[in-house]
Amino acid sequence: MSNLPACPQCGSEYTYEDGTMLICPECAHEWSANDSESTESEGKVIRDANGNELQDGDTVTVIKDLKVKGSSSVVKVGTKVKNIRLVDGDHDIDCKIDGIGAMKLKSEFVKKV
Ligand SMILES: [Zn+2]
Repeated sequence: MSNLPACPQCGSEYTYEDGTMLICPECAHEWSANDSESTESEGKVIRDANGNELQDGDTVTVIKDLKVKGSSSVVKVGTKVKNIRLVDGDHDIDCKIDGIGAMKLKSEFVKKV
């Protein structure tokens, strides 16, 4: 017995398999059985120093003095950073800090508020 997903178009449970495709007999929608798996692996979870999941728009505080590249400024421990944006890369948080401007942080050096 295979446990096939319901039709994404009309929600019918009477879907059947045809090779690698799934077919809905009620609305004639066809889709690839592998679709759901590939979208799941896309979502990369970014976590703070405590292992909490971070999301766009979160407010975090810095847990360590961080030198700002190319300047003498330092982002002090406890600095609150509002409205972060998660990005790909070594520094995975894009943000704007009062008095410093736009910069990138590493998620391991912040804590969700
Ligand atoms: Zn359908």
